[in-house]
Amino acid sequence: MINIAEIVLEPIKLLQKSAVVALHEPDLSGNELAYVTDCVTSGWVSSVGKYVDQFEQNLANYVGVPKAVAVVNGTAALHLALLLMDVKSGDEVLTPALTFVATTNAISYVGAIPHFVDSGKTDLSVCPEILATYLETHVVKRGGVSFNRETGRKISALVVMHALGNPANMQALKAIAKQYNLKLIEDAAEGIGARIGNEHVGTVGDIGIFSFNGNKVMTTGSGGALVSHDLELMKKAKHLSTTAKVSSEGFFYHDAVGFNYRLANINAALGVAQLERLPEFLQNKKLLADYYRSYFGTKDGIRFIDPEFGGQSNYWLCAIQIENIVTSDFNLVLDRAHKDGIMLRPLWQLNNELPMYQQCPSMNLTNAQRLVSGCFCLPSSSGLAKNIYF
Ligand SMILES: *Cc1c(COP(=O)(O)O)cnc(C)c1O
Repeated sequence: MINIAEIVLEPIKLLQKSAVVALHEPDLSGNELAYVTDCVTSGWVSSVGKYVDQFEQNLANYVGVPKAVAVVNGTAALHLALLLMDVKSGDEVLTPALTFVATTNAISYVGAIPHFVDSGKTDLSVCPEILATYLETHVVKRGGVSFNRETGRKISALVVMHALGNPANMQALKAIAKQYNLKLIEDAAEGIGARIGNEHVGTVGDIGIFSFNGNKVMTTGSGGALVSHDLELMKKAKHLSTTAKVSSEGFFYHDAVGFNYRLANINAALGVAQLERLPEFLQNKKLLADYYRSYFGTKDGIRFIDPEFGGQSNYWLCAIQIENIVTSDFNLVLDRAHKDGIMLRPLWQLNNELPMYQQCPSMNLTNAQRLVSGCFCLPSSSGLAKNIYF
């Protein structure tokens, strides 16, 4: 029997030029140093400065909204998004079980209860068909408001996550959100550069967020942003993220419980430089995806994860699904990879299985479970593309 680890690792080893192949490492070889140096030499390293304004404006232009708000990280952006969508303590929020824990944590930060929903068979993000069927029997509507039939709690929002940079089926999910009067929040933390037709992910629902953590497609060191077509909403986001200070009222007048979630100028400087590079990163990542797809496409029982519903992925993390792989073989592939310095990674542990979320309401998660037990995320740094021989 041919070793499954060899099959999985072969195309990565052909790209390996160093002892360790990272899962996703940043490329800071453009204007990053110049702009950061400018912050240091000018003394503008902290919570205000020209790079913050520039980054917000350039990001807004890039994704096609009037205003973006830069914050300290993607998790903080999610926290603010939930507050801005009026999600209240004791509400339930429909959210994928298959996501990074930050999505679920943010729901807890506002005192709401995550209500876990399944992925599609091949679509890692929230599956609209499964969700629609589930809601038909589990939701009762009173006065236009949706309530969980079993718990009696109000269901106020739906969070959709664009997993690994592959756009979710937003058109169908938007229709569901409308039908059940749910606020639609896009966790596009992994999705910068991903599109659905002419629309950038994060700008399709009521509010969207991005992460610019070090392992994402582009980075500000640590950082995140909120986006929306609703300018007033974004003004509120800026206000809440900057301690809700009302400057017109004097020195230290604050009109709400605000947050110190501002992105620092020195981080925003990185963001301005990285946005300049984004088209190049996306092009490289597409080449890498083409390379992996052409290799794995010839292997029986292995599927390269591609976007569905006509979406354009940013291929943040290229991934494959191996059908019917047993746990021992799955772990063997990971062990082998790590011994060879290849930072292969599984998907996230389903959030409903984490100790703090085990009591939360959940639908059957058959698809998400199957995806977790068969998927590997492959090294996907933009810089790897130059190692491909054509
Ligand atoms: C990275 C990520 C976040 C959190 O972003 P941070 O900037 O690390 O706080 C949230 N959701 C998802 C799906 C992510 O991948």
